Order: sequence, then C-alpha cells, then structure tokens
Amino acid sequence: NNKIERLKQVVRNIPDFPIEGIQFKDVTPLFQFSENLKDLTDVLSSLYKDKGITKVVGIESRGFIMGPILALNLDAGFVPIRKPGKLPAETIEENYEKEYGFDTIQIHKDSLSADDVVLIHDDLLATGGTMHAAYNLVKRMGVKKIYINFIIELELLKGRSLFPDDVEIETLLKYD
Ligand code: IMP
Repeated sequence: NNKIERLKQVVRNIPDFPIEGIQFKDVTPLFQFSENLKDLTDVLSSLYKDKGITKVVGIESRGFIMGPILALNLDAGFVPIRKPGKLPAETIEENYEKEYGFDTIQIHKDSLSADDVVLIHDDLLATGGTMHAAYNLVKRMGVKKIYINFIIELELLKGRSLFPDDVEIETLLKYD
C-alpha cells in the first residue's frame, strides 16, 4: 500500500533522545500535516471498520492523539489509561517493569463493561511492557474482546511475544 509507504517516510528518527544511544522515532510529523493525518486516520480506521468496536482505550500520552479520532470514526467511545494520580474517580491499576525500575498505569473502574469490544491504541510498540500492562488492566475488567493497535512496531524488540497468540495486534509502520 503506497499510503503506508509514504507515511513511513514521514516518521523522523531522532538520535540520542531522550538519552544517548537511543534512536527515537518521532511520530509528530504524522499529525502535523493534513494529508498525513487523513491518510493515517483512513488506514487505521479501515482495519477495524467491521469489528464492532465499542470503546477505544488510549494510553497516555501519545495514545491520546489518534485514540479519540479512531473512536469517532468507529462510532465508539474513548477511555483513557493514565499515569498514577491523574484519574479522579475510582481506579484499578497495574504495575510493570521498565528498563529502569517500575511503572504504574490506571483506568477508571466504571469505564468498561462486559459488553464492550475494546481496541487498545498506542503510538509505538517497543518492548511491549506498557501495552502488556494495559492489556492486563482491560482484561481484568471482563470485556467481550480486546484488539491491540499501534502506529509503529520496532520488530527487533519482539514486543509481540508478550501477548497470547489469539490476540490480534495490528501495526502500520514496521521498523527493524
Ligand atoms: P514499551 O513499553 O517498551 O513497548 O515502550 C512503548 C512506550 O514507550 C510507548 O508508550 C511509546 O510511546 C514509548 N516509546 C518508546 N520508544 C519510543 C520511540 O522511539 N518513539 C516514540 N515513543 C516511544
């Protein structure tokens, strides 16, 4: 697909960000220009048109950009997963291991129910730790089905391997 090839050229590589030795994929140019934003929206939405998605769950912070756009396009609602202390009502949380130390994410306890078909969205799959925690969080809420989506996948890090084989994970732009 040439839309995907074109979008792949738009992502920037930023060396040594946020620390030396890291090659950071900058997704912001995908959102900056209307042609890119439209193409990205079309391609992502078309993957889920017939899946009966009722809620898109976005992971703070870059999952909050395309998450609500996808939700609107799919006639679904939007639910945020956030860092600790940000969500005001009752939450449930997951702890997960990062490269340096631990992290926690939270979701509102009343935000999903047994009838929901959920699409969890984030910008980028690296080691998979963040999405795996989000997946566990949503799974604990007893929803009907969970799909997972990223704009970018860093394939060498094998983040996919953390998830059960029956979970559908779609990524648009794949890099080594
Ligand atoms: P993981 O938990 O190792 O899969 O890291 C994924 C999380 O870190 C996502 O929430 C990403 O937004 C962020 N992240 C890691 N590497 C990059 C990058 O190169 N560009 C943009 N975001 C990144």
